[in-house]
Amino acid sequence: MAGRHFLFVPGPTNVPDRVLRAMLVAMEDHRSSKFPELTLPLFQDLKKVFKSTDGQVFIFPSSGTGAWEAGFSNTLSPGDKVLASRFGQFSHLWIDMAQRLGLDVQVLEEEWGTGVKPEKIEEILRADKAHAIKGVMAVHNETATGVTSDIGAVRKAIDAANHPALLFVDGVSSIGSLDFRTDEWRVDLAIAGSQKGLMLPAGLGIVCASPRALEASKTAGLKRVFFDFNDMIKANATGYFPYTPALPMLYGLRESLKILFEEKLEHVFERHHVLAGGVRAAVKAWGLKPCATEPKWYSDTVTAIVVPPGINGADVIDAAYRRYNLSLGAGLSQVAGKVFRIGHLGDLNDLMVLGAIGGAEMAMADVGIDVKLGSGVGAAQAHFRAHVMAKEKKPTEQERFAEVHPEGVLND
Ligand code: PLP
Repeated sequence: MAGRHFLFVPGPTNVPDRVLRAMLVAMEDHRSSKFPELTLPLFQDLKKVFKSTDGQVFIFPSSGTGAWEAGFSNTLSPGDKVLASRFGQFSHLWIDMAQRLGLDVQVLEEEWGTGVKPEKIEEILRADKAHAIKGVMAVHNETATGVTSDIGAVRKAIDAANHPALLFVDGVSSIGSLDFRTDEWRVDLAIAGSQKGLMLPAGLGIVCASPRALEASKTAGLKRVFFDFNDMIKANATGYFPYTPALPMLYGLRESLKILFEEKLEHVFERHHVLAGGVRAAVKAWGLKPCATEPKWYSDTVTAIVVPPGINGADVIDAAYRRYNLSLGAGLSQVAGKVFRIGHLGDLNDLMVLGAIGGAEMAMADVGIDVKLGSGVGAAQAHFRAHVMAKEKKPTEQERFAEVHPEGVLND
């Protein structure tokens, strides 16, 4: 199909042309004296994205799943108890990994569409007088349902219970797109992947470990080899890796970090908030509902949209893909067929998101969902324009009309 493909799955995300070009490099000697000029600044710059000065960043040639495994295997011992909330496919897979590694997981089952409930965590930790629970696991942004949880509140809950458990946070679909405060929230293991907010292909599993997590790694009994923090710490100190690094990915990472810092992180977060607002305005205009049950759970990186009864969300995704060159995210596991997802993270702007909304609208109409063509696009346009006007301090059409006609309301 002519023209660009519209990639709106919540990862992998679009890789900016600048990053693609930066990755087009000849292979080189990763043991040369020059190599650390590339790598040492990467560790420092990644810490800015994690908002950490105290932490140690690890870059593994893996996906986010590998970063999960690195986090557990370096800090815990077989049979250790951890507390985890399950409310979507990724929190489920993370729990599954913990169990398969031999950890004793106490699972808090939450309704899909909601997220971590800090008050429940506090209650359980308060009751755990013997401090048997070694870790609390929280998925910051559940990509399957489009739910963001309040990690600052989880930290407060742990503190209120005066409990020493480590805090493990999955930030795979938030770090680099949403405000993630590793030091302020005292996150002990923050987990990221390269293919979402960092705008790279999949291939790097990135972990930011706190001094407490590093301390725990000295006595942790789970076996690890490939993911051993200690091997990494020794080699990374001088800018090297214990095995062959994924060279083009590191060049790409240098460029993507540059792009994020040029835009400025706070602006990146605001942009994601505005783009998400446009998608949510469209969903409302379609008369549909997000899977996230309340605004407090709404994610600024992905929206899962519930399709009407009798409609299969997979058909919407297929029509969008085949007819309009648009990739939407599938419903996973419990919500398979019940939702489709729009990923709105990474290298995106207003008009790209309007394209995705327009395509989703056509695909929904194609499969028999009663949506008015243009309704979602119009609502998102209004949302984006209101934001632009507010930034430039120009009155919107509605405000200008209201000034002249204080008695009336502008009909759209
Ligand atoms: N955690 C979350 C929240 C995710 O969205 C994903 C992937 O989409 C993962 C973990 C797993 O990461 P990966 O697929 O890079 O292994």
